[in-house]
Amino acid sequence: MHVDPPKPHIGVLAIQGDYAAHARALAECGAIPVEVRKREELRGLDGLIIPGGESSTMLKFLERRDLFDDLKQFCQSSPVFGTCAGAILLAREVRNPPQASLGVLDAVIERNAYGRQIDSSILFSETKLPGDKLEMVFIRAPRIVETGPSVEVLAHRDGRPTLVRQGKLMAATFHPELTPDDRRVHQSFVDLVNSGLRKKMKAS
Ligand code: GLN
Repeated sequence: MHVDPPKPHIGVLAIQGDYAAHARALAECGAIPVEVRKREELRGLDGLIIPGGESSTMLKFLERRDLFDDLKQFCQSSPVFGTCAGAILLAREVRNPPQASLGVLDAVIERNAYGRQIDSSILFSETKLPGDKLEMVFIRAPRIVETGPSVEVLAHRDGRPTLVRQGKLMAATFHPELTPDDRRVHQSFVDLVNSGLRKKMKAS
């Protein structure tokens, strides 16, 4: 008899930004979304999305709620996907201006890198994800200016990475939750979480 594997529980850091849209995307991709506002809520999760917003405000919230260290630990051991401000929080170095980060993604990222006039735009990129070009919605977006050797680039803008993967981590400088007709980005994260769970099941 074929038994479907259990759906993964994936948290969405629910401080700021469109976390509800991420939750909808996760549900459509076969995961159970869980809103996370306290450190206890990280327990038992199979993965986590850190959405966009204002990374400096998110940092303050993480520190005030005593969530920073637990979140960092979670990022060191579990699949995590950071979008826009979430990508800024994951990077090992933040510029313009420099600010603290979780430091788990081997990348240097520049905040608000596209200036004021064109601070929001929709562009398309070739992608290593299966299928056609990827639609990318940028809102006061950061730019990844350096990546380490373990970082795979899955999409780009003007020759700079916009979607990357490093082991269990993914980061996007755009907002995939705002492209409801194309769930490839969230699906690839849910697939990453599921492949980790299968490995764990085999090992136990
Ligand atoms: N400009 C924001 C920052 O620097 C990121 C924007 C976003 O998440 N849409 O944190």
